[in-house]
Amino acid sequence: MKEKIQEEFKKHFGGKGTLYASAGRINLIGEHTDYNGGFVFPGAIDKVIMAEIRPNKTDKVRVYSIDIDDNAEFELNEEDAPKQQWARYIFGICREIIKRGGTVKGFDAVFAGNVPLGAGLSSSAALESCFAFALNDLFNGNTIDKFELARIGQSTEHNYCGVNCGIMDQFASVFGKKGNLMRLDCRSMEFEYFPFNPRGYKLVLVDSVVKHELVDSPYNKRRQSCERVAKRLGVETLRDATKEALDAAKSDISAEDYSRAKFVIEEKERVLDVCDALNRGDYETVGQLMYATHNGLSKDYEVSCEELDFLNDIAKECGVTGSRIMGGGFGGCTINLVADDKYSHFIEEATKRFNEKYGHEPKIYDVVISDGARKITE
Ligand code: ADP
Ligand code: MG
Repeated sequence: MKEKIQEEFKKHFGGKGTLYASAGRINLIGEHTDYNGGFVFPGAIDKVIMAEIRPNKTDKVRVYSIDIDDNAEFELNEEDAPKQQWARYIFGICREIIKRGGTVKGFDAVFAGNVPLGAGLSSSAALESCFAFALNDLFNGNTIDKFELARIGQSTEHNYCGVNCGIMDQFASVFGKKGNLMRLDCRSMEFEYFPFNPRGYKLVLVDSVVKHELVDSPYNKRRQSCERVAKRLGVETLRDATKEALDAAKSDISAEDYSRAKFVIEEKERVLDVCDALNRGDYETVGQLMYATHNGLSKDYEVSCEELDFLNDIAKECGVTGSRIMGGGFGGCTINLVADDKYSHFIEEATKRFNEKYGHEPKIYDVVISDGARKITE
């Protein structure tokens, strides 16, 4: 990828710029916890967006996307927003830096990536973080702190791309560190690295390539359930609720709200249990907790779907250590922790049986926990 980018940069702009990269991400555990003030547990992966960038001493930004084979050119005022969606991510990053009092001047850039688009690995956060990191280095002497870089990416999604996302994806992309996952506390925004070096296991995503569009916005309904229960229990968010308090109030909560809250409270505990297990290097326990999360998402939170439950069942049958839905649900990927000697059989079975049943093969993405945003110096 690096050579291709350098070749295209030379072709479009002549000479050389500086290379930067940032990564997509996975979330090992901690689902539907962010809006409940709980924990998420992401890590950056070995799939990146890489860009070569050079200031051009003008007010104009000129960018070429290798993967889309398209050029964009824009100035840095609010009314200069480019039409192409991919370029709006870059424009948004520039604008958000400027809005915060930072500096961005004209530059030339060529970029490419291998984070699959729209598969739940957050290619958009990789793109945002790559440019945010680069523009901080090139024009701001790295004075913008890393959390602010993540927020700049998040605001770009909100203000220029119409996606009302949380902070996890950009956080993971910016702070990612090889061999480490990060437990982010969505209430205090404090985080901690935990070692993740599953020797003898692979981490693999199985993408169902289905996305069920649902009526009457199930996400909002889940949120409302959580808010209702929190209010009933007298806590700000379910982060502060206990299973005991929930059970004590069971008789005046609907059965549905009870199940939703139960999942959220248990999921918080599971993240903490995963941290303990990782500190011991106990990946079998990590795997069991992943299955428990899947079960909770499917039975209590009810955000799974037939295809994802099917993939989870196959994983179990193939002796996969851990498997669960990753992301909001109703489609997308499962994330699987698989012992090396079970890997080929699992992938073959999942591919064959899913295809027989649903008429298309799932997509398989192996991932390794790697560094996030960085300058490429070698
Ligand atoms: P994801 O879940 O992967 O973040 P999004 O829809 O949020 O999916 O973001 C995908 C968008 O990000 C693409 O439509 C495109 O505009 C931009 N993008 C991601 N990767 C690339 C790339 N390699 N080249 C150009 N644009 C990209
Ligand atoms: Mg995205």
